[in-house]
Amino acid sequence: MTSQRTRERLISRLRDEGIENQQVLDAIRDTPRHLFVDEALAHRAYEDTALPIGFSQTISQPYIVARMTELALSLGVPGRLLEIGTGCGYQTAVLAQLVPRVFSVERIEPLLDRAIENLAQIGISNVVCRLADGKMGWEDRGPYNVILSAAAPEQVPAELLEQLAPEGMIIIPVGREGKQMLTVVQRKDDGKADARDYQSYEIEPVRFVPLLSGISR
Ligand code: SAH
Repeated sequence: MTSQRTRERLISRLRDEGIENQQVLDAIRDTPRHLFVDEALAHRAYEDTALPIGFSQTISQPYIVARMTELALSLGVPGRLLEIGTGCGYQTAVLAQLVPRVFSVERIEPLLDRAIENLAQIGISNVVCRLADGKMGWEDRGPYNVILSAAAPEQVPAELLEQLAPEGMIIIPVGREGKQMLTVVQRKDDGKADARDYQSYEIEPVRFVPLLSGISR
């Protein structure tokens, strides 16, 4: 059920859905998603669907992980990437295979603890995680070339815009529950201009959990 063949089937499905970046497809093939979910759900780990991970949260659907990762790499490999919503660490693991330094914040402590264990278990060591409210970003480690959020605000938080490097981009679902648009916001000024300039692009309708405030222990 977690065999190579099952994984290959997922990869061809992602290709059919329009994922073209071979490095992204390889990283998804190489990431043992069954280790990130409850044992009782392991047999469904290579279906292209979100699955519950407790605390009313879900592990992201492979298609959306692939899509967002492809967008994250669309202007070249980002030197520093901030992920908001570590969850069980699955998307983090995919990103960490393609990006040199990943910073990831999660607001639910028990989920974050599990994510840290999951990442260590598969030998990933270029990720720094933190319990924090991702609405505030993670200023000390910025600025970031890419900020990628796995939870949806109604509007892009100003703090995230401020922590973008010149030419950097935020990849984020925006909107109310059940009616969100995956959006890319790119910083267009060169860092020397007086005023910052951002451009927004709508990618496709998506469904994400809401970006909540504060942390939960
Ligand atoms: N990419 C994750 C999926 C996480 S689901 C995975 O592959 O498992 C979205 C996550 O965002 C949840 O774990 C939720 O707790 C977290 N989240 C929601 N609001 C947040 C906030 N303000 N700061 C940090 N994390 C947040």
